[in-house]
Amino acid sequence: MPNTLPPPVMIIGQPCLRGVAKAVPPDYPIDTLMDHFNNLVSTTGGNNPIAGPQIGLDLRIFSFGGIGDNGIVINPIIVLPQLPPTPLTFSSQGEGCLSLPSLTVNFGITRFSKFTLQYETLQYDSITNLLQRVSATQEFDADLDERLCALVQHEIDHLDGKLICDYAHSSLSLTEMLDLEQRVDTISQYARESIRFGTPPGYNYLLANRLICSPARVEPPMNN
Ligand SMILES: [Zn+2]
Repeated sequence: MPNTLPPPVMIIGQPCLRGVAKAVPPDYPIDTLMDHFNNLVSTTGGNNPIAGPQIGLDLRIFSFGGIGDNGIVINPIIVLPQLPPTPLTFSSQGEGCLSLPSLTVNFGITRFSKFTLQYETLQYDSITNLLQRVSATQEFDADLDERLCALVQHEIDHLDGKLICDYAHSSLSLTEMLDLEQRVDTISQYARESIRFGTPPGYNYLLANRLICSPARVEPPMNN
């Protein structure tokens, strides 16, 4: 009997979340791509966007119901408009992540507000009903849908090994951060204790967000 359990979601601390995922080659088997897509969707019950590295899949893929006929995005590239010369951005609030359970980033994450997404997806051929891999583009504008803009960039961050906690201006050194991640390898550990990351004055530091740190508790810096 085949194993029908969906793959587990990888939690912060697991190395697959921190690498740069590989591009899907042009000759990659369509059937295998469809299997990956089904695994991504079944992992979240189809309700949440999720990227390949979050299920241990080292490929530039994410599933996202809002994009493409079948909701899978392959080899995405963000293309910024040439005008204005400085990309427009907005401050994304309240982002969460399946790989950081119980954590919501409540400070503003800087996201591009206008861009074109170039990607590939899987769709059915209307005549033969065969699945095929096709190129696609989609415009994003935070003035129309801020949340969608942020979600796409959040998923692409996963393909580059970046997590929302990285946007915090942490009082921890890089060495301390790496040490912290190495200790966070199970959900039970994760929930054991909370710390607060300090950020410079002017930011709301990560309030009540839970990242394990034992035995040390790190307090935010003084505002001076
Ligand atoms: Zn995420």
